[in-house]
Formats: sequence, structure tokens, C-alpha cells
Amino acid sequence: SLIYHGYLGCSPLHPTIAVSLRTLAVYRQSHRTCPRFSIQAQCKSLCHLHNIPYRPYFNTQFSDAYDIYLEILHRVDCIIKAALKYNTPNWRLLNSCPCCFYKLEGEHPLAFEWLATIDGNNSLKRWSSSIYGTSPRHDSRTYRSDYWLSRAEVDKFKNGAQTQMVRLTYNDDWEDVVPSASASASFHCVDRWRNAGPEQRKRMFSIFDESGIFIAACRHRIILLACDMVQSGELAKYPLAIINRLLDVYGQNGGVAYDIGCAFSKTLNNSSLGPGARALNLRMMVGAFHGHAHNRRCQIDWHPLYIDGTGHTEGEGCEHIFSSSNELARGTRHASPFHRHQAIEQHFSFWDEDKYSALSTFLRNHYREAQMAIQTLTAELTALKGVLNLSDTDFLHFHEQERSYLDGLKELPLKDQVSIRAEWNLAREAANRSLVEIHVGSFADMHVALNQARVRVDGSYSRLQNAEAMASHLEVQLGIDKRWEIGSDQYNHFRQETSLLNYRMALDNLERLVVMRLFELSKLSLSGTGYKLRQQISKALQRRSEAIRNALSRYNTQAGALIPPRPQLTWKDIVEYSFLGEFDLLRQSRSDIRTLDWTKPAHREATVKYFKIQRAREEIERLNVEIRRLRTAIHDEELMVNATIDVLLASNQPVGLELQRQWQTRAAINAVHLFRLDQIASQPNFSGTRGIG
Ligand SMILES: [Zn+2]
Ligand SMILES: [Zn+2]
Repeated sequence: SLIYHGYLGCSPLHPTIAVSLRTLAVYRQSHRTCPRFSIQAQCKSLCHLHNIPYRPYFNTQFSDAYDIYLEILHRVDCIIKAALKYNTPNWRLLNSCPCCFYKLEGEHPLAFEWLATIDGNNSLKRWSSSIYGTSPRHDSRTYRSDYWLSRAEVDKFKNGAQTQMVRLTYNDDWEDVVPSASASASFHCVDRWRNAGPEQRKRMFSIFDESGIFIAACRHRIILLACDMVQSGELAKYPLAIINRLLDVYGQNGGVAYDIGCAFSKTLNNSSLGPGARALNLRMMVGAFHGHAHNRRCQIDWHPLYIDGTGHTEGEGCEHIFSSSNELARGTRHASPFHRHQAIEQHFSFWDEDKYSALSTFLRNHYREAQMAIQTLTAELTALKGVLNLSDTDFLHFHEQERSYLDGLKELPLKDQVSIRAEWNLAREAANRSLVEIHVGSFADMHVALNQARVRVDGSYSRLQNAEAMASHLEVQLGIDKRWEIGSDQYNHFRQETSLLNYRMALDNLERLVVMRLFELSKLSLSGTGYKLRQQISKALQRRSEAIRNALSRYNTQAGALIPPRPQLTWKDIVEYSFLGEFDLLRQSRSDIRTLDWTKPAHREATVKYFKIQRAREEIERLNVEIRRLRTAIHDEELMVNATIDVLLASNQPVGLELQRQWQTRAAINAVHLFRLDQIASQPNFSGTRGIG
């Protein structure tokens, strides 16, 4: 029949159209490398090549043939996996990334035995069929790969509203209670990223059946797990289910990066997973790039720069995966659940192959980068240490001091708020008294003016400065300067409080704008590559942000008005995105901390350098382990596959030939790997163990 001639019919009986297997293979690969390339585009180009007019029903026919083709591939795959004994549970999870999971005996122990990063994304959503007014077509087919966690497994962590509540009401962060006069009052570190895009939240989730995906990936960006987000935003149950499986498979001493890892860690602890996660010593953290937008206190605990053993793991791999899988969105939005899963699986499986073949490049680049970092940072730090007369223990000490200082702030702002109000009330009373005592001008006018002033005073802190202007206006009008006693302690104190408040308002405003802009930029440039390029961010910021410029000059005015004046900020400070963490220090200008050692800019810079060196050294350690793992995995794989091919060629020739064909591709990639690994190992300053384990 048709298949022996290399064609696949588009219907089981009496096919009128057939598609060649070669065309299907070409389409599969084109679609995997370029997710935007749709079946429709393929059909149109085929029609053009065959000189026949395009008709929409070709799409369905091609799609049917393609489904069958993938099913055949899948079954062949199953047979081959069985022959290779790759069909044990969790085989893919344990073997897809040899660098992470091919553990050898007697290798150097690492602080984190496994590192993963998790995140959710809304772009791969699917419209509910009910919005078309049709009932969903029944499709008994389900996904084929083991990437997916089933909905039932995810819903085990539903726990009613509890887990969700924890996440939504989590607000014991100290930053929340800082009195902020601007309209966007609370500026919680979790909300910095999430709130910056409010349209994400308002979106009606009910019109989508699957509203997105939630995935986990290793630090080499190989995808480990995925699950659908169903008619909801990023609920706690998705990360919980994913982490549950990761813990099951990978066991103890793991590290998981999540862009709201700081808040999620509480949710995790309170969930049914909490005891297990603690027993297995799971460590949550925040991705390196997202971490810069968290508040300073949060960074100290959650930023990978300050976590021992993370090396140069940035924890942002999911963003890269999404930036590529977003391209699929156009095709999956209106597809059936099965076709959506099929498309995502195809995309993921090729992504993983791609990342596997990039492993040795990853190792080589990271090795080079870490060595460079150690070299330059060591030189710089030695110089700094000499000038500042510091030792390594001082840096840890500074870090500790900063932590306890920020911890101590939790209570303060509220007290400040009360005292400002008390000051203001005192001042107001003094003004009232002096007004009553003086009998000049029209009493009615005076009364009206006074009432206006009182309304403003009682209004809110955002109008405090108006009230002040009004009050001083009254003073001038009524000639009561002397009674107000300019220069008295009370008056000066009040003035100081007001200018401090103005200063903080300007600071809050500036911070909000910078974070918003950063968020927009990260969204913008994520569709391309290299979104962390500081230069790029700086340029884009400069181009697009008149608002920031204005806020900056307002800030500088207020900073100059303070007694003693606060240092002025420049444009350059703002575009250093790592500067975001410093906002929290600037805000606390009351207790004069600038005399303390750890707050001196030079010391802070040196401390950051110190931590960077630690991470770079750990990275080298980890890479040494990973290089050996990869080399050993390749060696073992070759022996095993070749033996299996020999057996199969004797017993089951077609399968043997297919495996031989697949192995050629893999062997070619492995050869390149070995070449690059040799390159790394031949460097004079290579510190790992050569050979296999
Ligand atoms: Zn990995
Ligand atoms: Zn945080």
C-alpha cells in the first residue's frame, strides 16, 4: 500500500490525498526549529509547488497525516527505548542532563546536589471552546511524553484556598509599613514584578481552558517538568506539585530558583509539602536578575550571590525557554488540548536536544568566565583590601551587620509615622493658639482659612506639604511670624520631618519608575537574547524615560534640602540595575548610619566583590564535577548503545537499523563534546580531574 512507497494517506479508507514521509519529516523539523511555521503555511507552500489552488480543508488533512506520522515515530521510540532499557520510571528526568544528574562515585561533594529553576508563563494558553458556542470535540488522545504532570497530581496541592491565601495575604515584609505618601502606597518586593504588569492579573482567566504552563528546568536549561495552569493565574499549587516531583526524583540538598522564591518559601513551609522539603534540605532562592528588583533585606537571604554553593547559577533559565516557546503561542491558542500538548512536546524535545548539544559550550564558556572573574576580582580585591585595611572576615561581618541593621528597621517606621503626626499636631495647636490670641483682620476670613488648613492637615500625608504651604501662607497673611517662633527647636524639628517626608516621597516615586521601566525592558528584550546586557538597558532607559529624569531631579532637590544633605544621585547610578537594592538604604536616613563601616560605598563594593569571588570559585568546583560527569556519560552511553545495536541487528534488524541511524546523530554531537572537553582540560589552569570516573 501507500506506506511502502513512502506516503501516508490522509484518511484511513479510500485516501484521495497522500503526503510523503519526507515532507512530514521536513515539516516536523521546520516546525520544531521555527515554531511559527504553521500547518497552514506548509500547505500553502505545497500547493504552490504542485501548482494547485489552496483550499482550507488541506490543513485538516495534512494535520491528520501529521498526527499519524508523530504517532508512528512515538511507537518506534518506545520500542527503541525498551531495547536500551530507557523505559524505567523517571529515566528521562535522571538522564536528560548528564552534567546535573549523572552522579559518579567519589566525586567532589557539592553544596547543592541539584539545582533547578521554576516559573510560570501565560503565553501558551488555549481558548475555551465554549466561547465559540460549540461543545468541545471529544478527543480521547492525551499527551505522550513524561514532561507533563497530570491535572490530578497538581490538584493534590489545591488544599482549598489555603495555599492561595498564604500567597495573597503575605505581607509581613518590613517595607510595607514604611509610610509612603504616594498613591501606590505599598511596594512589596513580591509585588514589584507582579504588580508592575497589572494587566496580567485583570485578565479574565475563565475564557481560557489552559491559561499557561508552569515548568522546571535544570541550570543548563534542559526542561525537566511541565504542567498546565488551568483557568487561573500562577497559583501556589503549580510550583508545589512541581517541587514535589523534583524532591521525589532528585532527593536531598536541592536548590530551586523562583522569581518570588522569598514569598513562596513561606507557602511551601505551610503546605503539606513543608516537612518533607525541610527534611530533604531544600533551599529556595530568587533568580539573579529578578533578585535585583527585590528589596535589600530580601536579597541578603534569597539572592544567589549571597547563597553559598550556588556558583554562577543564575536561576533564570525559564525565561529563556519561554522566550522561545512564546513563538508557539499563535498555533496552540485555538488548537485542541491534544494538539496543544503535542506541539509543546515537540518543541520541548527539540529544545532539550539542542541544549544537550550545547552542554560542552556551556561548560567551556562558564569555565572561562569564572576563571576571568577570579583573576580580575582577586586582583581588585587585594588592592582594595590593602587600601581599606580589611580582611575576608570583615566582609562577612559587614554582611552580617547589614542584615541585623535591616532587621532592626522593622519596627521603626511606624513609630516615625506616629511621631510625625504628633509633631504636626503640636505645630497645628501652636498655630491655632497664636491665631486665636491675635485679633487682627476679619475674624470670619481667619476662621475660614483656619478651617481649610485643618481639613488639609487631617486629610492625608500626601497632602502634608500643601498644608504646610497653607499654614505658612497664613502666617505671612496674618503677620504671626514671631509667635510661630521660627528657629525654635520644635519648629526646626517639624521642618526636618517634613523635608524628610518629601524626600521619601521623591525616593519612592523614583524607585517605582525605575522598577516599572526595568520590568518593561525585561519584557521587551526577552523576545531576543542577552537581556541582561547592562549597556542595552542603560541606553533604552535613557531613550524612553523622561519621567525618570524628572523624578530624579525632584529627588535631588529634596535630598539637597535635608539637613545634613543626602548625596545626589546621577543618571549612571540609576541605570546600574543592581542599584535597586540600595533604595532601601537611602530611604532610612533617620538614624545616621553613614558613619558605620559597612555602609561606606568602598566597603560595600569590596564586599560584593568578595562574594562574587566565592561564587566564581564554587562555579569552577561545580564545572569540574560536571565536566567529568559528561565525559563519563558519553563513554558509558557509547559502550551501551553499540552493544545494543549489535544485539538488535542479529535479533530485530529494522529496529537495530533505526537505532544505528539515530545513534549517528548523537555520536556526532558527542564527538564535538569530547573535543571541547579536551580543550578545557588542556588549559594550564584546569583544576579538575582528567579522564572518566
Ligand atoms: Zn543540567
Ligand atoms: Zn523578595
